[in-house]
Amino acid sequence: MIQTVTERIDESHVHSTLAHEHLVFGFPGMKEDPDNKYQPDTAYENCRVRIDMIRPYDVNLIVDPTPIECGRDPLFLKRIAEDMNIFIVCATGFFKDDENALSILKTVSYTEDLERLLRDLYIREITEGIGETGVKAGIIKVASSFQEIKPLEKVLIRAAANAGNQTGVPVFTHCDRGTMGIEQAELFLACGVNPGHVVIGHQTSNPNLDEICRIMDLGFTVGFDQFGILSIPGIPTDEEKTENLLSLLEKGYEDQIVLSHDTIFDRMGYVSSSKPRYTDQIYREIIPILKTHGISENTIRKLTRDNLLRVFQ
Ligand SMILES: [Zn+2]
Repeated sequence: MIQTVTERIDESHVHSTLAHEHLVFGFPGMKEDPDNKYQPDTAYENCRVRIDMIRPYDVNLIVDPTPIECGRDPLFLKRIAEDMNIFIVCATGFFKDDENALSILKTVSYTEDLERLLRDLYIREITEGIGETGVKAGIIKVASSFQEIKPLEKVLIRAAANAGNQTGVPVFTHCDRGTMGIEQAELFLACGVNPGHVVIGHQTSNPNLDEICRIMDLGFTVGFDQFGILSIPGIPTDEEKTENLLSLLEKGYEDQIVLSHDTIFDRMGYVSSSKPRYTDQIYREIIPILKTHGISENTIRKLTRDNLLRVFQ
């Protein structure tokens, strides 16, 4: 079963999917941005345009792993899901320990058992709902920094692992520029997590295919979830990402990869100058390339639907 922002559904309702997209996203402090205030009406229109792009491809489920402190807006997601007749999964959990974004958690840790507090928060948002909204989270998000898992991130990962174990809800991770996937996987295993319920994210951005294979050999699913991102320094191009995906399929990993773009339909606050990106690129460009390389419809269905659904089982 999958807990969406509107209802719990079983997999028979799901057609095609996107495993990692943000409807609205902004970094902490965006509310103070005088030039780019979050305007729900504009955000609504931007979401409508992006969702209309993927309708021809029968996409009716989007996982939105936006962390709590990055503008997560459960009621907005619910409004979009209802109005646009699409299933959206909302997250509980926090982003990486970057600058002072998570300073509130560090303050709490002086007086409380932070790991227990976070675990209880995640469980509450999954089982009872987020605040007073009545909207329940359907996944737990965790993140680590570039080439390191900071101490607070380890606490967040352990809290997510324990909340996931207790609720059966999957965990989706952010690997900064594709790094630290193995280390994340080892932490989850140390917490007794079923690796089948974890997506180690952003492996599209990891040029080290051996490492991606090792993550999957441990039983985890990996996110090839940053197609179209060109602005992150040092990561593979889209052509290289597609070649890497083909190599992994050739090695037989077709049951452990999910696809997405990591787009932001409406960026709150600071407006990125990076090239605009589109929610249909995988369906419009990447899948046709896979087909010319002889990848079967059955495998494409696994990448765009079945593998993601298995993470929720
Ligand atoms: Zn993301």
